[in-house]
Amino acid sequence: MDTDVIVIGAGLAGLQCARRLQRNGHRVTVLEASDAVGGRVRTDVIDGFRCDRGFQVLNPAYPAVQDWIDVDALGLQEFGVGAVIHTSTSTTTLAHPLRHPEHALATLGSRHTPVSDLLAFARWIAPALRHSATGPRPAEDQTLRASFDAAGLTGRLRRDVLETFLAGVLADSSGESSANYVRLLVRCFALGAPGLPRGGMQALPEQMAQWLLEPVRLNTGARDLQHTADGVQVSTDAGTLRARAAVVAVGPQDLAALTEAPAVPTHGLTTWWFRSAELPQAGPFLMLDATRRGGGPAGPIWNTAVVSQAAPSYAPEGQHLIQATTLLDRPDGLAEEAEVRRDLERLYQRSTAGWELLTRHVVEHTLPVQPPPLRDASPQRVGERVLIAGDHRDHGSIQGALVSGDQAAQSVTRLLAG
Ligand SMILES: Cc1cc2nc3c(=O)[nH]c(=O)nc-3n(C[C@H](O)[C@H](O)[C@H](O)COP(=O)(O)OP(=O)(O)OC[C@H]3O[C@@H](n4cnc5c(N)ncnc54)[C@H](O)[C@@H]3O)c2cc1C
Repeated sequence: MDTDVIVIGAGLAGLQCARRLQRNGHRVTVLEASDAVGGRVRTDVIDGFRCDRGFQVLNPAYPAVQDWIDVDALGLQEFGVGAVIHTSTSTTTLAHPLRHPEHALATLGSRHTPVSDLLAFARWIAPALRHSATGPRPAEDQTLRASFDAAGLTGRLRRDVLETFLAGVLADSSGESSANYVRLLVRCFALGAPGLPRGGMQALPEQMAQWLLEPVRLNTGARDLQHTADGVQVSTDAGTLRARAAVVAVGPQDLAALTEAPAVPTHGLTTWWFRSAELPQAGPFLMLDATRRGGGPAGPIWNTAVVSQAAPSYAPEGQHLIQATTLLDRPDGLAEEAEVRRDLERLYQRSTAGWELLTRHVVEHTLPVQPPPLRDASPQRVGERVLIAGDHRDHGSIQGALVSGDQAAQSVTRLLAG
């Protein structure tokens, strides 16, 4: 045997899996097809700007992050817990009243937050608070849209704020995602202060990879996975490896290439990254466009932020980094640059002529489709000695990927002991 366990994929799930296996006393070899660790959590550094491959944030309130990540070492730079709501007649900052007392009056008195909606929101989130340890019950799950209706959450808080914000978080504007999945995310948003590591989001997987005794084998894609009499055999361009067991921790779209498990459908988004010498908006908040009657944006952009306002390390001194997100499930998800600029000018109410496009990331497979009912974390055994890990086994998030990787490792340890 070349090693005890081969982990295929060095995204967050694969890295946590390898780390747990190592702690459990196994020799682990991690194979990664691309040129760096991180999977969907990668950062391009362009002219000193840190452009994550798709805008995302790290929430330190995720239990798995608290348990397994050295958040202090990442130097998290916090976003404001709230959002700027843009409509055709106003631009209003809504923020967590305890975290941002300076915005408390405007937030509670806003037309976007009528009392009836706030009460309905409390009814909606209650299952996630009642069952905080285990998560809301699968039997009670339904689509996000139906759950809002059932809670009586039908007013402006839903239309102007929640649906627009959540569509960007989920890369899904359909309202068909599992309500329990969304409740878990919203609960963590309320408890934590999501932010960006000083070195970019990729600092997270890089930290995890550092803890491994055997370095991840980069540019080493697994081509084929076979069972043998006493374990598994993985073929790569660099040769064949034999081990006692394997964990397939590839993304949802790559699952079918190596296992008999079907590929999991995904939602996608596009992130545009611009640089500017002028500061277009003060404040470390995400801006949501709620201009359209009935909710949602009037153009292709669902949310935008001056990322370097929250995370100064993302731009060189005196410069600003702006992200804008469009959704691939919308007809204008792949809008041209001119259209995106027009939309940004409407939202920030200024010209973007002096802004320079740094890059655009089209992330076709951002998150697995997550219909109700939300599954319990379930490492799936797809062969005598092969398991699957990844956010698609738990739920689509950093938390879900870490938990899934950890659980797969524990299952492998039991398997090898048995
Ligand atoms: C744009 C965007 C925004 C997001 N926003 C957030 C957010 O704000 N909060 C949050 O919690 N989550 C967010 N997420 C989700 C989170 O990033 C993912 O859930 C998580 O990173 C998934 O990790 P994973 O290990 O399951 O899969 P992946 O990251 O997809 O890792 C799979 C790895 O397997 C490798 N691989 C594939 N095939 C092979 C092969 N044959 N051989 C070897 N290696 C292979 C891939 O190269 C990849 O490195 C976001 C994701 C994106 C893309």
